[in-house]
Formats: sequence, structure tokens, C-alpha cells
Amino acid sequence: MKLADRVNKIQPSPTLAIDAKAKALKAQGIDIVGFGAGEPDFDTPANIKEAAKRAIEEGFTRYTPVGGTDELKDAIIAKLKRDNTLEYARNEISVACGAKHSLYNISHVLVQEGDEVIIPAPYWVSYPDQVVLAGGKPVFIETDETTAFKITPEKLEKAISKNTRALVLNSPCNPTGTTYSREELVAIGAVCLKHDFFIISDDIYERLLYDGMPFCNIATAVPALKGRTMVVNGVSKTYAMTGWRIGYAAGPAEVISAMTKMQSQSTSNPNSIAQKAAVEALNGSQETVEKMIVEFEKRRTYIVARLNGIPGVSCFKSHGAFYAFPNISRLFGKSFEGKVIANSSDFAAYLLEKAQVALVPGIAFGADNYARLSYATSMENIKKGLDRIEAAVMNLK
Ligand code: PMP
Ligand code: GLU
Repeated sequence: MKLADRVNKIQPSPTLAIDAKAKALKAQGIDIVGFGAGEPDFDTPANIKEAAKRAIEEGFTRYTPVGGTDELKDAIIAKLKRDNTLEYARNEISVACGAKHSLYNISHVLVQEGDEVIIPAPYWVSYPDQVVLAGGKPVFIETDETTAFKITPEKLEKAISKNTRALVLNSPCNPTGTTYSREELVAIGAVCLKHDFFIISDDIYERLLYDGMPFCNIATAVPALKGRTMVVNGVSKTYAMTGWRIGYAAGPAEVISAMTKMQSQSTSNPNSIAQKAAVEALNGSQETVEKMIVEFEKRRTYIVARLNGIPGVSCFKSHGAFYAFPNISRLFGKSFEGKVIANSSDFAAYLLEKAQVALVPGIAFGADNYARLSYATSMENIKKGLDRIEAAVMNLK
């Protein structure tokens, strides 16, 4: 069957694919330990679920304005002021069906044929494919653990061309967990100020920070960049609301209005009930978030120590998000029953088949020397999974 060219230029989201595979194997009764999914294992807090129930009972079940209700926009405006000291008006906010959808809208209203978007690697899986779908070209800046997976002003300067349309920043980062400090953002911002492109700041892991690490957005660090920064955030990770599909973007009114126009011809408004729930998430008690962060930090410390204890594996100690991103390249060339592990995909396939552990190969994030383990799963699962990985690595010859 003939399909449009654009769909052949992209891959299905590998993170979602691996999660689906692990869930399917589990459903068949196979005892899989899943480190694939980037979604909190916690339940959505009760106060948020209550707000959704109220919305249904009160009949808040119709179309809303395409870019979100004023009530939710006001909650987002208050959040951005409170947490990020960034001030926006309602016409500078657009709510979408998840932060992924906000990012999709942004790439479609900013990027066209011939445009380049700079993406630090390792990167979250959807950035390059969304750029490609919009007709643009992803330009990667390679990083590794020797620089804590961070780009430097010098590397950024080298990646910029006359075609640069945007730079993507994701701090805390999926998959590495690395987090930029205010000083580092000031230095990167100084380079951005010399040129004329947008900055897409994906702040979805903003609250998931450990070791007392503070969060900073580039527009907060360098206020002169606010006029060309698209701040993207959402409720999926912070409030364990991945299935509710609410994300948002804040930025210049002209871009926001174009995003809303795009959305009016695609999904229309995000789910009305989920919008009510998101208002409660942002305005209501943050107690459960605090508890979740404490638990994630314990898991992070445990998983990084366990991975570093496995011969041939070394793991960067991240400051945020809920992923461990060990370097597994010293295992390449080893084999099990004659089958050589040559890359991260071989490693992931070996663990799934022989150890019943699902993780995401680093190649999905543009970094084949690594693998990603999400620790958004119980401590019990983490221990069991790490025991299995350790035994499987020991079995390699
Ligand atoms: N950005 C990053 C870095 C992510 O890891 C995710 C998780 N899927 C998203 C954006 C999108 O989240 P959502 O669409 O669930 O809001
Ligand atoms: N962001 C999560 C992850 O990286 C969810 C999956 C996805 O949206 O791609 O695993």
C-alpha cells in the first residue's frame, strides 16, 4: 500500500514500543521486570481524581476552547510565576494533549524545509522525528559522561548555522538525568543571544530533582531570551498523570496562536475532564509530589550503586528525572552461547530473552554505548531486575 513519504521517514516511538512489548509478555504470564516505561508507578493523587469525578458529575463534558480553559491557563500562569519567576498572559499559553503534543505543535509552526534544529545527544526519542515530520533537519551535539552529558557554549557555537531555527534543551534530561545549573544556562544563553533562533525548553522533569539540585529555565537565567523561548511542561510526570494527556507551552503570543490554530484542525481541545484534574494538580496540595520525589531519590541512589557494582558497567549519577543511563560499551564483543553482543540493541535483546528484563537500548536516544533503565518502578522490582542483569552480565564470556 502506498503511504505518504513523511511516515516512512520516522520510527515508532521506541520507548512506547518496548513498554508495550514488556506489558504484552507480562500479560502472557511471563515474569518480566520492566525498566522500559518512562511513567511513574504511583497512582494519580486522590485530590486530582476527585476533581475529575466532580467535573463529570457537574457535566463538564463538552468542547472547551481549543488551547485550554481560562481556569487551567490561569493555574499554569500562576505556576510559571511561582516556580520559575516567568510572567505570561493567557494568550501566551496553549494547552495540548500531553507535552509531546505541545512539542509537536511547536515543531510544526516553527520548522519548515531547510531549517535545522539543534538537539543535544543523548536525546529523548521524539525530538528528532518531530523535526523530520515538520520537514526540518536535526543537528546533534554529541555529549558523554565525561562532561556530565552537557553541551558547552563552544560546542553549541560550532553547531549553529544560518539555517538554525531552534535549540532543544531538556533539563533534567531524559535519558541521562543530567541537569543544567543557572550558571551553565547563562553561558549557553550568551551564545544564543548572539544569534536569532528559538529555544525549546522541555521542563517536564522540573520537579524530579535530587541532592538538593535547584531547577532553572534558560528564560529565567537569561530574561532577554524569554521572547524566543518556548517553555514546555505538563502534569504527566510530576503528578503521575501520564494517561490523562495534559501538557502545555508558554511563549510569544504569535507562536502560541499558531499552535492553537494547528490544534483546531487536529485534536481540538484536550480532554475537558483532564483539564479540570490538571487545575487541581497545579493549584492543590503538593504533598504527594514531595513523597514521590523522596522515593525516586532512594531508588536513584540504589540503582546507580548497583549498576556501578557490575563489572564492565559504569553509570553516571544523575540529578533528576527517573532514568539510569549506564555505559555498557565495555561489554561489547562478549558473547552468550556464541552470540556476540555488538551493540545496545543486542544487549537489550539478550536481557529480554535470557533474563526477562526490559530496558531501552541507548541507540534509541542516539547513544549506542548506553542503555536506559527507568526507575519509575517499585524498589522490589528494581532489586529483582538488577539481580537478573548482574547474573546475565556475569554469564557473558
Ligand atoms: N518530554 C520528555 C523529555 C519526556 O520524557 C516525555 C515523556 N513522554 C514527554 C516530553 C512527553 O510527556 P507527555 O506527553 O506525557 O506530557
Ligand atoms: N517519555 C516516556 C519515555 O521516554 C514515555 C514514552 C514516550 O512518550 O515516548 O519512556
